[in-house]
Amino acid sequence: MNFKNFGSQKYLLSEKMSGFSSLAHCFTTREGGFSTGKIQGLNLGFRVGDTPEDVTKNYRQVCDDMGFSFDNMVLSRQEHTDNIRIVTEEDKGKGLTKESDIFETDGLITNLKNVPLGIFYADCVPVLLYDREKQVIGAIHSGWRGTVMGISAKAVEIFKEKFGSEVKDIVCAIGPCIGPCCFEVQEDVAQHFDSEYVLKKENGRFNIDLWKANVDILASAGVPRENIDIAEECTKCKNQIYYSYRAHGKEHTGRMCAFIELKD
Ligand SMILES: [Zn+2]
Repeated sequence: MNFKNFGSQKYLLSEKMSGFSSLAHCFTTREGGFSTGKIQGLNLGFRVGDTPEDVTKNYRQVCDDMGFSFDNMVLSRQEHTDNIRIVTEEDKGKGLTKESDIFETDGLITNLKNVPLGIFYADCVPVLLYDREKQVIGAIHSGWRGTVMGISAKAVEIFKEKFGSEVKDIVCAIGPCIGPCCFEVQEDVAQHFDSEYVLKKENGRFNIDLWKANVDILASAGVPRENIDIAEECTKCKNQIYYSYRAHGKEHTGRMCAFIELKD
């Protein structure tokens, strides 16, 4: 993946998702933007103590930079579920320009054009999917619970069942998130993971490798490994660039977004 600057904003883009004229995508960072104070930067969360005016300006800036439709943007209220919504015409704008009823939803999928899907992250794993043949997109929030539930594999199943996707045509990009260096948990969380993703430490705690776990989930769902891109950017280690819940704490953590949109 490569960083790309637009003015003072910095975005991360996947090479595997670039070069398609019908696709726009990005992972945002905290750099640039209009938010001030504790969550200074490009905060995209409306529920983290920021002013709605500044957050809206940040969305407009991202849409200007990346060519996304501001009016049609769809966002969900993420609750660490494995619920995935297929976004339809009537959902356009929900969460940004229209009142939303998309709650308890951690994945969005659509084949509609000019309808950007956004998923929030601030340590959790954002996953973007694109079927380059059937022209279907998905944005998935795969925190540790979502990873345990295999939400990304569930998304691949929906691509196949509802849209006729073939796994060989699906391209995936796993964005910045907390790395195996920093995702330390206690046994109550570690016990949910296969031992190959768990490193037991001398302090009695465990580090979990959400990067490898999410690549393997997509691969075991049938996506060819050569179609899977991963940022390997740890949000906690690089908390100057990214908001990190673990590095900054609740009051100081804005939200970043992974966006994907089909173009005309
Ligand atoms: Zn780290």
